[in-house]
Amino acid sequence: MRNLSEWQGEREYVIANVIVVDPKKGSVNEGYVGVRDGRIAFVDAGEPQISSQPVFDGGGFHLSPGFVDIHVHLREPGYEYKETIRSGTMAAIAGGFTSVACMPNTDPAIDEKSVVEFILRKAKMAGFAKVYPIAAATKGRKGERLSEYHDLVEAGAVAVSDDGSPVPTAQVARRVMEYSSNFGIPFIEHCEDLTATADGVMHEGYYSTKLGLRGIPAYSEEICLARDLLILRTVPTKYHAAHLSTKGSVELVSEAKKRGLPVTSETAPHYLCLEDKDLTGFNTCLRINPPIRGADDREALIEALKDGTIDCIASDHAPHAAQEKQVEFDEAPPGAIGLETTFSIVMTYLVRPGHMSLSDALSLITHRPARVLGIAAGTLDVGEPADMTLFDPEEEWLVEEDSFHSKSKNSPYIGMKLTGKVKHTLLDGNLATASLEKSGIGG
Ligand SMILES: [Zn+2]
Ligand SMILES: [Zn+2]
Repeated sequence: MRNLSEWQGEREYVIANVIVVDPKKGSVNEGYVGVRDGRIAFVDAGEPQISSQPVFDGGGFHLSPGFVDIHVHLREPGYEYKETIRSGTMAAIAGGFTSVACMPNTDPAIDEKSVVEFILRKAKMAGFAKVYPIAAATKGRKGERLSEYHDLVEAGAVAVSDDGSPVPTAQVARRVMEYSSNFGIPFIEHCEDLTATADGVMHEGYYSTKLGLRGIPAYSEEICLARDLLILRTVPTKYHAAHLSTKGSVELVSEAKKRGLPVTSETAPHYLCLEDKDLTGFNTCLRINPPIRGADDREALIEALKDGTIDCIASDHAPHAAQEKQVEFDEAPPGAIGLETTFSIVMTYLVRPGHMSLSDALSLITHRPARVLGIAAGTLDVGEPADMTLFDPEEEWLVEEDSFHSKSKNSPYIGMKLTGKVKHTLLDGNLATASLEKSGIGG
């Protein structure tokens, strides 16, 4: 057996000595995986029979489908000083993510065919993770006229959203739902009532009063979600609620699912491990929208992941340059990077405390988010793309600023020790992490 890092572009090979985690099947077995022409050729338990194909040693690591993140901000075009498609997809590969869907709040917004094509071209040139553009639901994300969904979908857009902002009115939301239903694509809502948020900067509660920071009530998110779910009763179409952060939102989604409405939802890693009390240090990397909420909310979100009310986890990777975050808390732009820590947060805060099994937790970042967008990713099914992540579930590592491949370093976790480390990421059977090392940036 050869060491996996000695992979030299072989098109047909076997990775042995791995613990294969197949979240879709719910199985965890010592075994091996065969790759042929960039696709999964076979997956089996035990040790491989002697074969003519080269066999690489997986080092005893766990092997799972490549992770899928359906909510990232790649910032290109327009904000290349924060992130580029290249740096963002390198961060994805470093974090074990082989497929990412990027949000349209770029400049220009992803509201025309040419912008979708530009993103796909750039992603292909970079050669790191697969990128699925999410188009702007309305022209320029202005919340007025709808974009041309037909053109956008034809060019490769997989969903529509005005993320960064909500679709502002019930009238426009209804039109977005009606129009997107014609194309079978989901409408992804950034649930926020801007009049309720007003000039708030953190979760409204005891700590906002204590810290003297303006609060954002939980109902800022819930009003918008409730509005959309009521419209969904009239216009049943694929509706996905992004980055849910409150207990009330969980209750609303739960009730809608009981009614059989076609709703799916996600939460983000920071809502599972941080609380408003953690803002006492005024760390601007903890200014996020929606804000980090209270203990009750955090617990309700974990329960909702366990019982399936919330379908998946997405990072909401939101890079900002250092100088933008080195300001007063209420002046800082909201958002945190997440691609390189999401897996470790899942391991540290869901798996290690026993909230979920390894396989169930990985479902949240593999086949379940892939299913929300209807993309071919997140499984180890024979014939599917050989996108795979090898990781050590036990390894502890210290999050350091210079460990990031992302161009921006606005992570809330710098200085924290996390459990679970990505060791290798394979994209279409190619050892993508090897190219990261060659580029000579980051760790
Ligand atoms: Zn958002
Ligand atoms: Zn976002």
